[in-house]
Formats: sequence, C-alpha cells, structure tokens
Amino acid sequence: MSLTEPATSPAETVDVPQIGHWIDGALSASASGRTAPVYNPATGAVQAEVALADQAEIDQAIASAQRGFEVWSGYSIAKRQGVLFAFRELLNARKGELAAIITAEHGKVLSDAMGEILRGQEVVELATGFPHLVKGAFSENASSGIDVYSIKQPLGVVGVISPFNFPAMVPMWFFPIAIAAGNAVVLKPSEKDPSAALWLAQLWTEAGLPDGVFTVLQGDKLAVDGLLTSPVVQSISFVGSTPIAQYIYETASKHGKRVQALGGAKNHMLVLPDADLDLVADSAVNAGYGAAGERCMAISVVLAVEPVADELVAKISERIAKLKIGNGAGVDAGDGTHREPDMGPLITDVHRDKVASYVDIAEADGATVVVDGRGFTVDGHEDGFFFGPTLLDHVPTTSRAYTEEIFGPVLSVVRVASYDEGLELINSGEFGNGTAIFTNDGGAARRFQNEVQVGMIGVNVPIPVPVAYHSFGGWKKSLFGDSKAYGVHGFDFFTREKAVTSRWLDPAAHGGINLGFPQN
Ligand code: NAD
Repeated sequence: MSLTEPATSPAETVDVPQIGHWIDGALSASASGRTAPVYNPATGAVQAEVALADQAEIDQAIASAQRGFEVWSGYSIAKRQGVLFAFRELLNARKGELAAIITAEHGKVLSDAMGEILRGQEVVELATGFPHLVKGAFSENASSGIDVYSIKQPLGVVGVISPFNFPAMVPMWFFPIAIAAGNAVVLKPSEKDPSAALWLAQLWTEAGLPDGVFTVLQGDKLAVDGLLTSPVVQSISFVGSTPIAQYIYETASKHGKRVQALGGAKNHMLVLPDADLDLVADSAVNAGYGAAGERCMAISVVLAVEPVADELVAKISERIAKLKIGNGAGVDAGDGTHREPDMGPLITDVHRDKVASYVDIAEADGATVVVDGRGFTVDGHEDGFFFGPTLLDHVPTTSRAYTEEIFGPVLSVVRVASYDEGLELINSGEFGNGTAIFTNDGGAARRFQNEVQVGMIGVNVPIPVPVAYHSFGGWKKSLFGDSKAYGVHGFDFFTREKAVTSRWLDPAAHGGINLGFPQN
C-alpha cells in the first residue's frame, strides 16, 4: 500500500513524498504548510517530509474521532471482537511490510523491527480476549432484594503520543486495548518515523474498523498540546523522554484527563561474582547495543561486583570486535538468503552528536574509553548516522555520562565492592524503569527483587519487558501517573466503572419513609 502523496513538482519546491494524516478512515493531506524532514538514517538522506498539524487539522482529527466513538461504542461485543480478530490476522500475515517501513525510517535492523511488531502483536492478541476483561461484576442480594453490579464503559476519545524508538510496538501497547474497550484513538506518532502509524491505520480500515475510530495526527508540540487541552480527549497515554513525560502529566492532569506518561531510563545490570561471565557478557552486549542502544529497556550500566570487572570488560570487548554495523535493511546475499548487520545507525545526526558528547564528558571526567565508537563510518554509507559500539570503564558516578540517559550504543562499567553498594547506586538514581541481576544465588536474586526500587526486574534476563498479560511500566521518573501500559492496568485505564445498586420493588416489602443512611 502507498502511504505517501506523490512528490509534487520542483516548481512547488518540494521534491520528496509528503506524509500526511489519517482522518475519517483515509489518508488526509495536510494544508498546514508546516513539515519536518524524515531521514533514512542509514544514508543520511531526507526521504520524505511529514506534515505538522495546525489547529484546524487537530480539531478535524478530534471531531472525526468523536464521531467514530459514537458509532464504535454502539457495536456489540461480538462485532468488536470480530474486527480485532481480523486486525490480528492481517497484521500477522503482512508484518513484513511494516518491518520494512520501520527499518527505512528508524534504521534498526529488519529482524529487530520484526521483534517489536511481534511484541506489539502480543497486545493485539490479549485485546481479542477483551470481553473477559471488561465484563464487570455482579453481587446478587447485597441487601435484601437489592443487587449491586459494576459495569465498565469506554472513556471516549483517547490520545496516544509515542516516541521514535518503537514506532509500531509502543502505539500497540495502548491502541488495541483502547479500541477493544470501545474507545476511539487519536495517535500522534513521532515525527521522526511517522509511516508505521499510517500503515497500521490502513490495516484497521481493512479489518473493518469504522472510520474515525483510529486516527493518526502527525505533528509536533502544537499537535500534542492540542490533545492535552482538548475537552473532547478523555485520556493521554504518553511514552518518551522524562522532561516531556513530566510536562504531559502535569498539563493533561490540569485539563482533567487521566494520564499515564512513561519517561526515560538508565537501566543497570548488577553482576555478582558468582555469575556466569560468558552469559553476562553476551547479555550486556545484546542489551547494550541492540537497536543501537535506542531502547528504553537497554542496559546502559554494568555494575560489576569485584573481583570480576577486568575479566568482564575483556569478554565484552572481544564480543564488540565481532559486531557488524551497517544498513539495517541488510543485503541480498545472492544465495537466496538475506544478510543483515547486528546494529544499524542512530535516528539522526543530531542525536549521534549528542551520544558522542556523552563519551567526551565521560572521558573528561576520568572514565577509560575501552572501545571508542566516535567517528565511526560505514563504507558506502559515509553520510549515515552511525555510531560505533562504545565501552566505558571506571565511569565516575558523579559524571553526567553516568547520571543521564545517553540512548545510544554506549555501555558504562562501574566497579563496586559489594551487592549493597550496587543496590544503593541503583536505588539512588532518578529513573526506575528496568534492571537486572546476574547471579547463580537464588537468595541474592530474591533479595534484589524485594529491595530494588525499579518497576521491571530481570533475573539473569537483561531486558525484562513483561509479556502482554502483565503490565509494563517503571517507577520514579520513568513513569508519571499510577497506571502502567497494557495487561490489566491497560483495561482499567481505558474504561470507567459505574456501580449500580438496584431494587425491583415488591409492593409488600416497601419500607416506607426512612431518612436514615442506607444500611445492609
Ligand atoms: P521525546 O520525548 O523527544 O518525544 C516523544 C513524543 O513527544 C514525540 O511524539 C514528540 O513529537 C513529542 N514531543 C517532543 N517534544 C515535545 C514537546 N516539547 N512538547 C510536546 N511534545 C513533544 O522522546 P523520543 O526522543 O522520541 O524517544 C526517546 C525517549 O523515549 C527516551 O528517553 C526513552 O527512554 C523514552 N522511552 C521510554 C519508554 C518507556 O517505556 N519508559 C519506551 C520507549 C522510549
């Protein structure tokens, strides 16, 4: 399917495809006159321009969603479930198309793009079973002749605002459940990789979702603020960096909305001396450099409890030397197979330079740069936004390279003397998204899961993203609001409960006038 408007003539000074919105069940070209470039990160070339909505387009998108909600919330549960199953089947059959779109705009390798789709598909599959999760409860004869029951209703129009690093999975943390529960969704994707959202929108239409129930509003802060302040929008689900998450939480709350705002991270892996160091080194490399470190659950700090640090640094360095970095789309090997690198580029040159600046900071603060990814280039892709895998050792915990999120392929090793020292470092950080302990001591692992102040914990698992029927979310500045993404939290977030107390009068049992407080 084609998700872009054809390139217009050079006379109109635009020579790349234009990416618009999805409103009323169809592509909708923007007339705002404002756009942002969408790069191919592997080549550095601008491959499209994405629309940045103006107020008229924001209003149009929200009004369409409201109309969609009125239709969709009237559908029977069975009919809604049919649409969800159709969506799941289409997604499963055609996910290769979506993976190619993600790789072209984000830069991650194709197999990783497929991985994020599969994790999103898990939530779609959970959502197909929604009747069980929105069915409420019934108490017969709570008092004599009185029944009490609770019902769960959709909120209405709900807003989802997503980051660049998972253009398919993060929206899928929210919209399958929101739609299953009877809401209409307005998704504001990242302007850096906006096409995955349009592909998903078209798939919903093919699955039979009524127009307006899934809307894609492309844009920047103006579109976000439009959602945060609209009286029609009932809730906001946000994922992105911590400063913006905090802004979203405060602004949307002030406008009376339900909010879940997931922020940034600085995930530590605590390695006890009894751990299997080959497993640890493999895990640190996979979790530190996968998706070029642009994962909110990436491991960015290895806390090595001495005396294992020297050996671990050597093992990680050996593995880094074998990593292949290149165009995430890979190449046709000519023998019927497809070869792809281990790691692709970063999202933009600006972001690559920011990552490099953290390596400069670490070095200036006294860290040892064991493997240096600065200035890394890929033959034939010299203008791509590549940054080589980087390993820092002896990183001072006062350095901004330790305290702040880098969001690139940079692993920092911090040496600690004991479990307690490592735990104290994790717990004193401002983030609390994910963490992992590597050990063969079950008692130590159990103590860690109890004592660590983090929302998602891995025991010998480096990226502990919960499965769809558990919920995803961190603590502290990694999540503003009290509701995590998907799982039971997701169904609670996207429904509002009513409790009904009901009596069908038997005239003989009429109690007469009684101004006292009702008792059982
Ligand atoms: P970002 O905060 O820059 O952008 C996220 C969204 O907010 C985008 O849609 C963007 O258009 C919008 N936005 C940006 N600036 C804004 C502003 N001033 N006002 C209103 N809206 C604004 O994040 P990003 O760079 O796209 O994504 C990377 C960040 O997301 C990292 O910090 C990463 O840790 C975090 N993240 C967290 C999780 C999690 O589950 N906690 C998951 C994925 C990514």
